[in-house]
Amino acid sequence: MTANSVETLFIDGAWVASSDHGTRTVYCPADGSEVGVVSEATTEDTERAIMAARKAFESGAWSDRPAIERGDFLLDVAEALRERKDEFARAESLDTGKRFVEAQGDMEDIIASFRHFGKIADHYPGRLVDAGDSSVVSRVVHEPVGVVGMITPWNFPLLQAAWKIAPALAAGNSFVIKPAELTPHTTLLMADVLDKLGLPAGVANVVLGDGGTVGAPLSTHKEIDLVSFTGGLVTGRKIAESAAYTVKNVALELGGKNPNIVFADADFDAALDNALTAGFLDSGLVCSAGVRLIVQDTIAEKFVDELVRHAGNIVMGGPFDEQAETGPLISAEHRDKVTDYVNRGVEAGARLRVGGHWGGEEHQDGYFYAPTVLDQCTADNPAVIEEGFGPVITVETFSTEAEAIAIANDTDYGLAGAVWSSDSGVTNRVSRKLRHGTIWINDYHPYLPQAEWGGFKQSGIGRELGIAGLEEYTISKHIYENTEPAVSGWFPRKDAF
Ligand code: NAD
Repeated sequence: MTANSVETLFIDGAWVASSDHGTRTVYCPADGSEVGVVSEATTEDTERAIMAARKAFESGAWSDRPAIERGDFLLDVAEALRERKDEFARAESLDTGKRFVEAQGDMEDIIASFRHFGKIADHYPGRLVDAGDSSVVSRVVHEPVGVVGMITPWNFPLLQAAWKIAPALAAGNSFVIKPAELTPHTTLLMADVLDKLGLPAGVANVVLGDGGTVGAPLSTHKEIDLVSFTGGLVTGRKIAESAAYTVKNVALELGGKNPNIVFADADFDAALDNALTAGFLDSGLVCSAGVRLIVQDTIAEKFVDELVRHAGNIVMGGPFDEQAETGPLISAEHRDKVTDYVNRGVEAGARLRVGGHWGGEEHQDGYFYAPTVLDQCTADNPAVIEEGFGPVITVETFSTEAEAIAIANDTDYGLAGAVWSSDSGVTNRVSRKLRHGTIWINDYHPYLPQAEWGGFKQSGIGRELGIAGLEEYTISKHIYENTEPAVSGWFPRKDAF
């Protein structure tokens, strides 16, 4: 692969152009500059990639490798990523517009996830089952699920890919991945790493293009055994629906409407500082962003005034602008969606306290949206109900613990949330009552590759990371062996031998 080449589909171990030579130009959302030109696959290209993955899986070239060797390979991937960390981070920044330091942080998380799955690849034991008969050996083994279709979003392009690629390879699968059309470059670099480290041809395949043409076959094709999707709820529903026909395994990591509950006795400065990062880190383009601030009424006025003051001082800028504290949205279309979301929230009665605009003159070449706070929000306000997916915090207030829990659970989503209080009785009770997949107590955002990640309710199905994140890529099989075969006598033979 060369920088100017449009042979950017990776199929069956080779870099190829799309069958109709279609291409797409990728632009940096921070300033509209051209980042690169990549191939745009056809349905036939996706079909070829799926069949290459199937052939590779059946060959056993990877799936039959000892798990410990697959684990070692992932540790080598982690090492190679570390060596090329800044190259990857730069590519991620250019595609997404996110700050270079944030992309560097993402790289650390990506490396950690390869290390995690590398280390546990051979630590996922089957088990013996007591058949109650000493002549029977009954065991449950875990096998790779087969060919995995992976579809990823644009906000954390390589991180979301890593959460799928690392466990899929650890378990012995082959895969076809389709990154979001706006952010393809780091997934291509990832394929380059896997290829250079000697992953057998066809085990990893990358197809590029839009969801309808290139993504959809990954949820319908009968040679795909599992479709693992990270993205929005509406797309997730479509994928689950189309995967149903071939009865695929489906893993969905969808959006969130994540509550950040602050009790009056919380450490005020820590809660305030973290409320800002919860909502505005990475321009709020984090599925688990704490965009629903639920603050106790006795401190609400002071807390929100301070939040608004700090939010108004956040500096927006491009990936390599060292003064910048947050970056742009992904596209003009996305900025229009966020604009509409805020406008509808205000029309429904929310009060716009800060933000609600696209930034100054210097931001007009990119797709910026200023950090925004909407207060006096009610539960029926669309800004409280919908995932806005931008730097917008809505504020609601509560007086009792029960009320805080009820407000925080009053959503169709269930991805993540936080509770702030100096009373560990309160934080423990509330954390157990919240119907969300990750709960932070007196913190916001950290996650560990060793701990499961995923949604309750309409935030998804299945878990990534942890042990379950490996299990997702396996299928169990019961093997029952009779070591002393004998005639059962159930149907006595009536003829002579
Ligand atoms: P999206 O649903 O628009 O697109 C995600 C991917 O799906 C893209 O690659 C897209 O091309 C593809 N796609 C679109 N239509 C398709 C179809 N019919 N068939 C197959 N593939 C199709 O999401 P997005 O805007 O890229 O990402 C933002 C969303 O992702 C937010 O809702 C965010 O909360 C969510 N997200 C969730 C997590 C998590 O861990 N739960 C992590 C990151 C992002």
